[in-house]
Amino acid sequence: MTATRNKKPLFVKPQKYSKSETSQKLENTAADDCQRCFLRLEAYPDHACETRQGSRSCNYCLLVRHRCQPLPDEIKPAAVASLKKTGKARVNAIRAVRQMIKDRSRRINRKASEQAARNKQLKREPEDSL
Ligand SMILES: [Zn+2]
Ligand SMILES: [Zn+2]
Repeated sequence: MTATRNKKPLFVKPQKYSKSETSQKLENTAADDCQRCFLRLEAYPDHACETRQGSRSCNYCLLVRHRCQPLPDEIKPAAVASLKKTGKARVNAIRAVRQMIKDRSRRINRKASEQAARNKQLKREPEDSL
């Protein structure tokens, strides 16, 4: 009996399952999927993200000549959860994750675009003064 049971955090990352569970024919968990392949699952439910040994990009990203980007850690739990659903719910969940990724990159890019806008203004100035 364990009297002092650790309080589990409210949110547990759904990744560490028992070995027996993960070793059965690599379930499609999205945990290792790259971002592009994961989002592709919305339209192509059977798509699999596979990476050849020694390769930096997964096979699909190589094929479409796109830089392979892993799913952001903060997105992963939602991605993994979405693939546990089936049918329409799954599609909707993947779509929701897509939105999360969009929001996230918008947040990250905001600073960059603010900087870019400022640069544009700076560029415009000489023109106006001409
Ligand atoms: Zn991939
Ligand atoms: Zn990839």
